[in-house]
Parts: sequence; C-alpha cells; structure tokens
Amino acid sequence: MTPPGRAAVALSAAISAALLATACSPASPSPVGPSTPPSAAPTAAPSAAVPSGTVASAAAFDPAGLGDPYYPRAGNGGYDVGSYDLAVAYDVARESITGTATITAVATADLSFFHLDLHALTVSGVTVGGTAARFRQEDDELIITPRAALAKGATFRVAVRYAGRPELYPAGDHGQKGFFAGPDGAVAAGEPFSAATWFPVNDHPGDKATYRVAITVPTGYAAITNGVPGIRSTRKGETTWHWSVGVPMASYLLSLAIGHYTVLTSTHRGKPVLYAVASSIRDHPMLPALRRTPEIADYLETLFGPYPFETYGGVVVDEPRMRFSLESQGRPFYNDSGSGDSGVIAHELAHQWFGDSVSVRSWRDIWLNEGFATYAQLLWAEHTGGDTVDEVFNNAYETADGSIWSVLPGDPGPTTLFADSVYLRGAMTLHAIRRTVGDEKFFRILKAWTLEHRFANASTAEFVALAERVSGTALRALINAWLYQPSRPAAP
Ligand SMILES: [Zn+2]
Repeated sequence: MTPPGRAAVALSAAISAALLATACSPASPSPVGPSTPPSAAPTAAPSAAVPSGTVASAAAFDPAGLGDPYYPRAGNGGYDVGSYDLAVAYDVARESITGTATITAVATADLSFFHLDLHALTVSGVTVGGTAARFRQEDDELIITPRAALAKGATFRVAVRYAGRPELYPAGDHGQKGFFAGPDGAVAAGEPFSAATWFPVNDHPGDKATYRVAITVPTGYAAITNGVPGIRSTRKGETTWHWSVGVPMASYLLSLAIGHYTVLTSTHRGKPVLYAVASSIRDHPMLPALRRTPEIADYLETLFGPYPFETYGGVVVDEPRMRFSLESQGRPFYNDSGSGDSGVIAHELAHQWFGDSVSVRSWRDIWLNEGFATYAQLLWAEHTGGDTVDEVFNNAYETADGSIWSVLPGDPGPTTLFADSVYLRGAMTLHAIRRTVGDEKFFRILKAWTLEHRFANASTAEFVALAERVSGTALRALINAWLYQPSRPAAP
C-alpha cells in the first residue's frame, strides 16, 4: 500500500498504473490509524501463558507465537497442522457465524497445553482426541489444555466449537483486513492476517496445511472459497457449499466470499476453472482480463515451471472497504477497482508460484512474494507489447522516488511491509541478477526455485544460495546491495 504523505513512485505510465492498480496493495491510499496490528504484541514468555502444568521444553519454542521477526505472536509453536476441516454457517441477516473447526496436527514438542489464534469470536467447547478439554481465551489466543498431555511426535485432533460476529482487524498499517461483513453478504481476506477472523488457526505461513471447508448460507447466496468445488446440498432454506484444498496452503491465502455471485465454470487442461463475479458488477472492464486467466497462467508456466495448483479462476468482490487484490491460492480475489489492465491478473497469478507454492518463512522476506510477482507482471507487459522490462528498469533506476532507495526491500519493517520498494526494487533486484547472469541462467534459477521449494517455505538466504549454485556466479554482494543497502545500488 501507499501510506499518505509519501509520494507515489514516479515511473513510466505502465509501471505506475500497474503498481497502483495492483495487487496485494490497495488501489489508493487509505487512512493509517494508531491501532495495533494483529498479533503484533510483544512475545510473551512461555510461562506467562501457562494455564496449568508445565511445558517440557519451554525454552525451545513459544506456545503463543512462531517467532516471526515482524509479528512474534503470529501463529503458535509446539505443533504442526496437517489439515483443517471447517464446517461453518453464516447468518447473513445477523452477520454472525457458528462453526466447528476440526484440526489434525502433530506435536513437535511435549505439550501440556497449546494455542490457536482466533479473533473476536467466542468458543463454546473444545475436544482433543474426542475428549473434552479445558480452554480459555486471552485476546486473540485460544489456549487449550487437553485432559492428557501430548507427547512429542503424537498426532492429535482438536475440535473447536465457536460462534459470534466476525470482525475486521483494526485498520492499522496495511488498511483493513479480515472479515468484511455487509448487508448482503461477506468477504474474508487479507495479508498478512485474515484467517483467524473466522476460524481458529495457526495463523502464520510457516504452518501450511490442507483444508476442507463446508459453508452453509441461506439458499440463494453463494459461498465461495479456495479449492476444488464439491457437492452442494440444500435443506430447509439453507445451502451448504463444499470445497477442498488438497495442496498445503498458508492460512492467509484462504479467502471467503458470501453473497450474490455469477458463477462461471469450465475446465482448463483437465483442471476446474471457476470465476465468481459479484452480481452487482455488470460489464466491468476487468472481466475480459479475468477471463484470460488460463492464457496468462500458461504463459507464466513457460517461465516458472508447471502451474502448481488444482484449480484456476478468480473471484471479483463488490466490497469497497477491501482496497486490495489477493493471490488467494488457486483462485485469487480481486476488488472491483481494476481498470481492465491484465497486469493485476498476471501479478496475482505469478503469486501462485511465488508466495503460494513457495511461501515465506518469515514476513521479513515479503520481497520473495511481491518482488517476484511484480517482475512477472513486467514480463507479461513486455510479452503483450508494453514497455520492455529493461526499459522499465532503466526508467525506474533514473527516476524512481527516493523512498525505494531508502526503504530496504529485504527488510522493509512491519509497518511498511507493502512499501513500493518491496514491489519495484524487489523486481529490480531480480533484473539486476538477470543482467549479471544472462537470460538462460536467470530463468533456470527461477524454475529451480519453484521446483525445489514447491509447496513449502523458503527464505532470502536460501534464494541467494540457490541463485549462486544454479548460475555458478557469486551474487551475494549484488543481492545484498539491492535488498539491504539504504541508497541506490550501482547499476548492474
Ligand atoms: Zn502481490
């Protein structure tokens, strides 16, 4: 996003439009309030959260956070989720949800208790292994104490019954994210956090999992999320929509749209294609670009390797408070501010490789998502007759706003996670590598990256090591200057 008071990036019309119109960043500046970002509170000492008993290896992990350098209390330590099975019902008139989340996980330490993340919803019951467990809620932490302690390595199943009126996170540094409840439906989406606004979750990309989601809504409403569509059943004026995500997914990539939607389905190369467009949006200029999703994905596949996921498509929502588009896995969510430029589609599709399949280990490495997706957007623009990537690079190098040289794309800080520098200078970092190693080795690096870290997590340090290994070229000093130097690096 572009916070107020900071000049927009001065670039060619193409890249300016692309950056402003896209893409995991809002269409225009939004107010920045003084509120606390979700899960951004200081890390608690493990003992502070102990409801009873002790943690066998308390020093080894934090039960209340995964230790992300920017959001220490995001996610929870001590276990690894394999799958979420969510059954939720949404009452559109009351803007309220009731749900049961059944989570299968493996203990990665001996546990007498463990945490899940849940925002502004009330838990009424918890079982672990089918046996009632004690629980309490402290801010956004749900703390569960099973009847019997869990041994390291044990697989366990926890079921949480909950209800309430889902909320947005306070509009903080990145605008409003979370659960957007409206008079005629709802949208849940947001990066870096949104999932815990509608179900209990280990809310950090470091713990990816598969999902099965059943959403019950009043008949006549659509309920769309990620994954392969399953059966749809109607009973007593309510319809349940079933979805399954069989490939591990980061929690922020699970998005939800409930409302009146025009749903179009087809197949592409044997995989389901599903577009859902809010029925209030008619003849929107973005729709022809949206329908190019398979074509754009096929083009990107020639550059980055096989398309990673089970589905293609996209969801266009009519929710003015959602000022971003998001690379929701297998089915990106778009706000309706698109101009008709296919760049935003290319950007969110590129994230399917960079961000969704290969996910960050920590949010500090966000350039691995946004720099790469922006670079793909530039490649698509060149491919379709726009400025060449080289022209955009040269133009940006000479004329870009000073903020991209002062903000470090490799360590932008939690309050400027989506700074222009992360997008543009991140992309320029890749172009600097390309100029140094040549096209053939550069695209081999990208394909090796998506292959070796497919469906997993990776870090900037791992990228540097891989790029040097694949290219046979010393790149560390170059990449360090482009990612971490608080001034314009030498021209490559
Ligand atoms: Zn993005």
